[in-house]
Amino acid sequence: MAGAAKRDLRSGAPLWLASGRQTPAIPLERNESADVVVVGGGVSGALVADALLQAGLTVIAIDRRGFVKGSTPASTALLQFEIDEPLLALSEAIGDADAARAYWRSAAAVGYLSGRVADLDIPCGFYDRETVYLPGNELDARGLAQEATARARIGLRSRYAEGPEIEALTRIKAEGGIVSAGCAELDPARLTRGLWRAALARGARIFAPVEATEVEESRSGVTIATKSGQELSAKWAVFATGYELMPFVPMEGHRVLSTWAMATEPQKDRLWPSRALVWEAADPYLYMRTTPDGRIIAGGEDEEIEDDDRRDALTAKKIKAIGKKLKAMLPDVSAEPAYSWSGFFGESDTGLPTIGHPPGMKRCFAVMGYGGNGITFGAVAAQLIQRAVIGLKDPDADLFAFKS
Ligand SMILES: Cc1cc2nc3c(=O)[nH]c(=O)nc-3n(C[C@H](O)[C@H](O)[C@H](O)COP(=O)(O)OP(=O)(O)OC[C@H]3O[C@@H](n4cnc5c(N)ncnc54)[C@H](O)[C@@H]3O)c2cc1C
Repeated sequence: MAGAAKRDLRSGAPLWLASGRQTPAIPLERNESADVVVVGGGVSGALVADALLQAGLTVIAIDRRGFVKGSTPASTALLQFEIDEPLLALSEAIGDADAARAYWRSAAAVGYLSGRVADLDIPCGFYDRETVYLPGNELDARGLAQEATARARIGLRSRYAEGPEIEALTRIKAEGGIVSAGCAELDPARLTRGLWRAALARGARIFAPVEATEVEESRSGVTIATKSGQELSAKWAVFATGYELMPFVPMEGHRVLSTWAMATEPQKDRLWPSRALVWEAADPYLYMRTTPDGRIIAGGEDEEIEDDDRRDALTAKKIKAIGKKLKAMLPDVSAEPAYSWSGFFGESDTGLPTIGHPPGMKRCFAVMGYGGNGITFGAVAAQLIQRAVIGLKDPDADLFAFKS
């Protein structure tokens, strides 16, 4: 089967790339083999490789651009258990029990990430944060109160707070909102570089630029042909190729969107006291967080645009709109962008990712960590794939599996 289409995944100047640091990878010069080949050097591939190494497997990873050069460094990296689809809406779409499992799994993924960052001692600006979810044109304050009750009922760390408490936490005037504990923020490029560094230290071999072009499965393994002519063979292959899907990975139920983000200059004195992650139940929505050096990162304005030229032509207008909304919400902060960027982003009908064997394949896994929770879904993928490879049944595998 042939390889994936190449997209211009992001443009502009993401804050996280300002340091200029890179992950060293070597060119592939001969055929190689390992227990598992991971295709994709972003956060999903890095988390999967880490989990497979933990299970004692040997790992080769490749990336056609270079490691940590895809969508990951464009991420604004709010780690939330709140999925793009509110719990009540998700319950309606897939049933109460499955919606509860999806939320529990997402909450556990934030904990898993926190654990890996601590165990591998990765300095990536990881901070535990609360999330404040504000009313908007999709859910008003009453809707948010019902959502908070539904979440609390299944043990999630969310509660409804009245306007004065929201203002005390965020300085934003609102009728009320949901406050959720158990969330976090980090620098996605430093996290992912740290994961690859730790993988290399445990014997992983990483090669770039190397493009997977063809994939062939046999009963006992998989062979990946590369554009440069070498072959990689393994018992298993994992395609964590972000928003560039291999042709055997069905797109059904998923869409690629464009999104925009900006970061201000440091302004520690003007930030909201809780430093909570903030987002709105609105379409288009605004979300924001702070950074350890006191910047505000704000983003949103998503549109169904899959063409990078059209996306980039809108950047100036979109960044202006994000700055204007930020200023309207927080009149005392500077909303001038010091960094601004755009990227592709995914959306699925349910807000859930698809992770598992693509139809008809038994030795390959694909990770479609779509949505505003792409990083936490990468952690879910790491656990699901680790368990499948070592022969353990994960109780939630069916929730994320490809429909055959
Ligand atoms: C502006 C923005 C804000 C976001 N905010 C958040 C957020 O707040 N919280 C959150 O959790 N998520 C967020 N996301 C989503 C999250 O960042 C992404 O889902 C995640 O980074 C995707 O990681 P990945 O490893 O799957 O993809 P990528 O980082 O794109 O990595 C995939 C890699 O695969 C390589 N590749 C593709 N095809 C091939 C091939 N055939 N051969 C070899 N290599 C190949 C590519 O070169 C690429 O480097 C945001 C995304 C954007 C753009």
